[in-house]
Amino acid sequence: MALTGLDIFKLLPKTNCKKCGMPTCLAFAMQLAQKKAKLEDCPCVSDEATETLAAAAEPPMRSVKFGTGDSEVQLGQETVMFRHEEKFYSPTIIAVTLSDKLAGDDLKKRIDDINSLKFERIGLHIQANAVAIINESGSDDSFANAAAAVNDSSDLAIILCSDSPSAMAAAVAKTAAAVPLIASASADNADDMAKIAKENNCPIVAKADSIEALAELTEKIKAQGVNDIVLNLDGKALQELLFSLSQLRVLSLKKVFRPLGFPTMSFVTDTDTDAQVTSATSLICKYSGIVVIDTTDHAAVLTMLTVIMNVYSDPQKPIQVDPKVYAIGEPNENSPVIFTTNFSLTYYTVESDVESSRVPAYIIVVDTEGTSVLTAYSGDKLNEKVVADAIAKYGVEDMVKHRKLIIPGYVAVMSGKLEEATGWEILVGPRESSMLPKYLQEVWK
Ligand code: SF4
Repeated sequence: MALTGLDIFKLLPKTNCKKCGMPTCLAFAMQLAQKKAKLEDCPCVSDEATETLAAAAEPPMRSVKFGTGDSEVQLGQETVMFRHEEKFYSPTIIAVTLSDKLAGDDLKKRIDDINSLKFERIGLHIQANAVAIINESGSDDSFANAAAAVNDSSDLAIILCSDSPSAMAAAVAKTAAAVPLIASASADNADDMAKIAKENNCPIVAKADSIEALAELTEKIKAQGVNDIVLNLDGKALQELLFSLSQLRVLSLKKVFRPLGFPTMSFVTDTDTDAQVTSATSLICKYSGIVVIDTTDHAAVLTMLTVIMNVYSDPQKPIQVDPKVYAIGEPNENSPVIFTTNFSLTYYTVESDVESSRVPAYIIVVDTEGTSVLTAYSGDKLNEKVVADAIAKYGVEDMVKHRKLIIPGYVAVMSGKLEEATGWEILVGPRESSMLPKYLQEVWK
């Protein structure tokens, strides 16, 4: 919780010396609380007060990163319980397990399968983000070799999962440059695991079976000089885990309880693919910063990534495409011209349906601030002037020799005014984009 002006005032020297440019220490404290002044402006503040104030200025949930370059992932730094209050900042990281019992072609195939979990959705690239290497073999060498193989053959971030400090040390030795996430430190091995994390500058997972034990464990790890920590509540069934993750979020964000001010990681333990989707989706919605899954089924992972896209999009800013004319296929001067709005979901739905019609076409995307056709129309962001301006601005009259514009069926009511504003013949298209292929193949012709 941010300190109030009065809280800050209590930490100041109270001499009213004016060296900070303020008439009194209280005035300076008030400015500081509103972030209109900097603590450095007071030359008289004690080291102790500086430390206290700096700690209070830390975000309630720490940001933790692992991986490097393009594979670097970031979690934490969330500020709100509910998305509509502001937005969620760090999309859940999907990590896929890889057993260190695998070797040879089996190991290569598993890495390839995980690497292939990349998709394009409404113009954005989404993918699984990390490989969670599991020390199932119990062998230090097997764990280290699997880690090295992933490091060599995958661009994804790495999570090393072992309870054995010697296995962890062996695997970190092969992957330290990739900044893996060390999972996990428990009450039994915290000192050894924290030492490995500290020496290699890697973040670490704190694992315990209760919130209280987690709080104790993070303090122990921090005392070793490791501050980048991820929390893992171990051994809980899904319902209890979801409840506990919500409690952790409250303690972190609302109570600003520093020992729990870290992002979380959860393992999906279901073996059935559909059950994994259900569990992962629940964990994404309820605050898990990393969700570790076992499946490499494309449909299952795409579902999870789609949920992440939706939960982590900014509710104040719809995902948009650039307003302009898009050529689908190789249209010519006789090709149909369709207009739609720049709400990504709307555009990519229309684009996909036009593509599947195999009728080359132009799509004019008008700027409606990322809103869908009906929303834009009812909010007057879509009207005849907006469409006429787009036709003129993008030079559509030079692209085709006809003057026929296909408009979405839902805004058929615009036809008259649109015809007057553009001078084009208005053709009312289907209400549902899915009917566009049939329309273009049968009606347009
Ligand atoms: S410089 Fe520091 S001690 Fe002096 S008035 Fe400002 S806040 Fe108070």
